[in-house]
Amino acid sequence: MTEESTNPRHTKILIIGSGPAGLAAALYAARANLEPIVLTGMDLGGQVSKTHAVENYPGFPEGISGEGLVKAFHEQAERFGTEVIFDIATEVDFSERPYKVTTYGEEFTADTLIITTGAAAVTLEIPGEEEMIGRGVSYCATCDGHFFGDMDVVVVGGGDSALEEALYLTRHASKVTIVHRRDELRAGSILKQRAEENPKIHFVWDTVLTEIPTGEKVATVKTKNVKTGEESAIEAEGVFIFIGHTPNTELFEGKLPLDDQGYIIVDGLMQAGVEGVYAAGEVADPHFRQVITSAGMGAGAAIQAIRYIEEKGL
Ligand code: NAP
Repeated sequence: MTEESTNPRHTKILIIGSGPAGLAAALYAARANLEPIVLTGMDLGGQVSKTHAVENYPGFPEGISGEGLVKAFHEQAERFGTEVIFDIATEVDFSERPYKVTTYGEEFTADTLIITTGAAAVTLEIPGEEEMIGRGVSYCATCDGHFFGDMDVVVVGGGDSALEEALYLTRHASKVTIVHRRDELRAGSILKQRAEENPKIHFVWDTVLTEIPTGEKVATVKTKNVKTGEESAIEAEGVFIFIGHTPNTELFEGKLPLDDQGYIIVDGLMQAGVEGVYAAGEVADPHFRQVITSAGMGAGAAIQAIRYIEEKGL
């Protein structure tokens, strides 16, 4: 047992979350010799680790898999002395300094905290959706797409995620029907063009899902045209839902200022309303939500935390 492994363990910078924001923050903090600790949360790498291909992160002209990018972020952060712990924060206490963070396995005290807990998929909240998760309903094409070889699947949503994941699903499925609540896509033009040109992809416009009938496996989804009110059904074995994200901020309710959608409110210096507490990435960004912007916010938060530690002589 080392001296550091006393309970609670103290660290100068504790980073909660291991997506691009968390691992970029860790890289900067580690390069300042602060030996930051990263609590990974459920999955190392967060949402991007489940993305099939990332084509808009500079430095990779041919694109890179989400998993590959996370692996590189992780290795680079560790190379300079980051400790990555596979654990989940269950409680935070900002009432006295150093701040206290409890996880399933340990208790930590920290001079500064960088919160990068990201966001999670929004659900449709329709009958059958929850019951059929794992029986055909999914929120991750790269995780579950291979189960749908030569089957018909429905994708819900009209944004970049829906199109990107629909394109990925064409590798496995025989037919991908994108059901969108409007008659115009929100997604950017490159993805739009690729989806429109893909012979396996079909669009159903102005339509919402109303029910996923329950059973052993998904067999059909019920739909409604929002303009005509006409009710119909689509036969499909899989339903992939990509209708946006909600920030993972339950842990901080009543402890940090949140906006009306639950995002942590940060100022231009990534400060989250409590001295020495910073937030970065999608947990504090309802607007850009890109790997590059999250990583940039993470770097910024770490720079501020490093300055704060220096100024206070911690
Ligand atoms: P998004 O851009 O917010 O799109 C969500 C889509 O779901 C919209 O088309 C929306 O319809 C639809 N929707 C929302 N609530 C719904 C509901 N209750 N029922 C039915 N449909 C609903 O989310 P996203 O696609 O996850 O993208 C998030 C961010 O990540 C964006 O900034 C996006 O640009 C970025 N992203 C980028 C890439 C890339 O560049 N390759 C890939 C993935 C994500 P409306 O259009 O009618 O609002």
